[in-house]
Amino acid sequence: MLALKDGAARLGIKLDDRQVRLFESYYAELSVWNRRANLTSITDYTEVQVKHFLDSLTVLLAIREYPGFPRVKAIDVGSGAGMPGVPLKIAFPEIDMTLLEATGKKIAFLNHLKETLRLNGMEVICGRAEDTGRQPGQREQYDIVMGRAVATLPTLLELTLPFCRIGGIFVAQKQVETGPETERSTQAANTLGGRLREIVEVDLPQLPPQRRLLVYEKVFATPTKYPRRPGMPAKRPII
Ligand code: SAM
Repeated sequence: MLALKDGAARLGIKLDDRQVRLFESYYAELSVWNRRANLTSITDYTEVQVKHFLDSLTVLLAIREYPGFPRVKAIDVGSGAGMPGVPLKIAFPEIDMTLLEATGKKIAFLNHLKETLRLNGMEVICGRAEDTGRQPGQREQYDIVMGRAVATLPTLLELTLPFCRIGGIFVAQKQVETGPETERSTQAANTLGGRLREIVEVDLPQLPPQRRLLVYEKVFATPTKYPRRPGMPAKRPII
């Protein structure tokens, strides 16, 4: 895990031996499960360290100043094989982490991972964000909401902002020019109670350039009509 350790150090994260072993186990489980569950197209040892694990840890740049960090309540919406939530949980065990995922096979993997890695304080929820984000125990309950590679920004805002408490933040990881997409999402953010607070450039030699974190702050409660029913945020994004 040298590539990960080196990259993490550049982010100010010192991974100890136990944490490195957890990342090794994560990689091993991902490799085994990937043969039957098709979890990720990235399988090479170094590539997984960099493009999955390190890329997930870059979220730190947007959340480290959050009051009380790392004792925060966070949710990873559309977690897939666990990114970015699981790498962040391994690096910062104090985070109270929830992983939300709609696909059964991925949920089976996430539950297996939770048991194998003994990640206490990590909940795995099977469901769609459109439904889960309406539940009283989930809606506006989180300090930090994240979602990587789940949908385009206007759709993603509708899937994520309902989970965010007022004063909390939503962090979107973007890998390309963000200007036009951010512009196009202003209406969605305004409608859903969010406001773009900052854009954080991710500058790590291991990762391709143009990585950015868009940080939205929740400034007022999401109107009760959102999120709309499953599929609608993607079919008719708020723009
Ligand atoms: N975040 C992971 C990553 O970066 O590796 C997974 C990305 S994958 C391309 C998108 C994931 O989001 C899929 O696992 C999919 O099942 C999940 N997803 C898409 N729409 C969703 C929704 N409305 N609610 C919950 N999960 C959703």
